Amino acid sequence: MAILPIYTYDHPVLKQVAKPVENITDDLIQFVNAMLETMNNADGIGLAANQVGDERAVAVVDLSELEDEKKKSKIKTPPIILINPRITLFSEETSDSEEGCLSLPTYRDSVNRPEKIQIQFFDLQMHEHTLEVEGLLSRVMQHELDHLQGKYFFERVSAVRRAMAHPKLRRIQLGQVEADYPLFSPKSLTSSRFPKKRK
Ligand code: ZN
Repeated sequence: MAILPIYTYDHPVLKQVAKPVENITDDLIQFVNAMLETMNNADGIGLAANQVGDERAVAVVDLSELEDEKKKSKIKTPPIILINPRITLFSEETSDSEEGCLSLPTYRDSVNRPEKIQIQFFDLQMHEHTLEVEGLLSRVMQHELDHLQGKYFFERVSAVRRAMAHPKLRRIQLGQVEADYPLFSPKSLTSSRFPKKRK
């Protein structure tokens, strides 16, 4: 297992469309485990493979801390592993909510998205699943599937808000931001940091 550095804006891999996974290999299982550890270390609730420099169509989502807190349950909600995911239905109803992204440290903005989706994906046993989800889970899945299509969440905010965010995005682009998890910025040789774990 390993904690991988998270690639930041605007590494070219973050603009790439992911390639479908054809077989479940030991290498893929190890990679998914590393993604889960990387997401957990960064206190993230979702991570797409290209955020750690990989082209495969894989994403992980983990709302367990939020859900377990809400339910006051001791039963751990497992993370969801999405292999070759695709959204097959979007609701007409939309909602606005603030989003952040591990590849865009320090930047948050409000994004309008469909409230409900139907999503199809494979798990690590290559079993196919179809789920209808709403609320935060729907939003996180849409955010991660955008990554697998080479799309940042700020591409979905209004032109005005995007212009306002430009200085912040520029600093991220230049590697002039820090985070509590290891970063890989293509523009800075000093951007990889391994500080204490935040909890
Ligand atoms: Zn993101």
